Amino acid sequence: MITVNEYYKKLFGEKVYKISLAGGHTCPNRDGTKGFGGCIFCSQTGSGDFVPHPSLPINEQIDLATQKVKNKGAKKYIAYFQSFTATYLPSEVLREKLNCAYGREDVVGVSIATRPDCLPDDILDMLEAYSRIKPTWVELGLQTANDKTALYINRCYPTQVYIDAARELVKRNIPFVTHIILGLPGETEEDMINTVKTAVECKTQGIKLQLLQILSDSPLKEEYLKGNVRPMEEDEYYSLLRKLLSLLPEDTVIHRLTGDGSKKTLLAPLWCGDKKRAINKINALLNHP
Ligand code: SF4
Repeated sequence: MITVNEYYKKLFGEKVYKISLAGGHTCPNRDGTKGFGGCIFCSQTGSGDFVPHPSLPINEQIDLATQKVKNKGAKKYIAYFQSFTATYLPSEVLREKLNCAYGREDVVGVSIATRPDCLPDDILDMLEAYSRIKPTWVELGLQTANDKTALYINRCYPTQVYIDAARELVKRNIPFVTHIILGLPGETEEDMINTVKTAVECKTQGIKLQLLQILSDSPLKEEYLKGNVRPMEEDEYYSLLRKLLSLLPEDTVIHRLTGDGSKKTLLAPLWCGDKKRAINKINALLNHP
């Protein structure tokens, strides 16, 4: 396995900065098309807590985000359409937004976060064409391969949809990253192992293994307050991570191994709020698997 920073450095010859953008404004799991209320763990920003100016046009979002890191020597960027479901837009609207990113010289690649049930043929055709212009990744929110858990977290699509979307992406040569949540209520270690194995079998190029965080602006808060959610302990989490990492092929790109919620809204587990400690733990894990 290779960390995403190493991977980008190899691909682009220097450090690149990923800038979070808001492209879409909702998702089918919130507006009633698939469900209401969203996935149980998702914050009100649609997991886009670090998008600084979500209501601005894409070009302005990029300008403001790049200005912030220029003093660190940043010259190249990955435009990351992070919040909500980035492909949940009419294809022409999406094209307009993506053009803003692909048209910029300082944007060397584009990453698009979405649900596997929001990749119709016209969008896939478009992404395939864009991927010939600049490196392009699709991020799929799988969370779990256990359909019983998927029902509980209100994911609102069966795992087969992920498997089918992955097959389409592979066929079109569009690399994809799979987002998995560890510690979902009721899940056993075997469930989580099975989820990682499913992603590997589907030929995911990259992976995000994310600790379940209970955020005060997510529906999970109520379940937590009722005592229906047991946050993972720190040692338990890192020992599980060690096992899961051992299942990954050597060329899998590791994008994230921790939670990514805002510290301001974090209710539990509080130990993960110490980012410095988390980074040290993860580095130790990667260097001594
Ligand atoms: S995780 Fe994605 S699909 Fe689920 S509610 Fe949040 S934005 Fe919607």
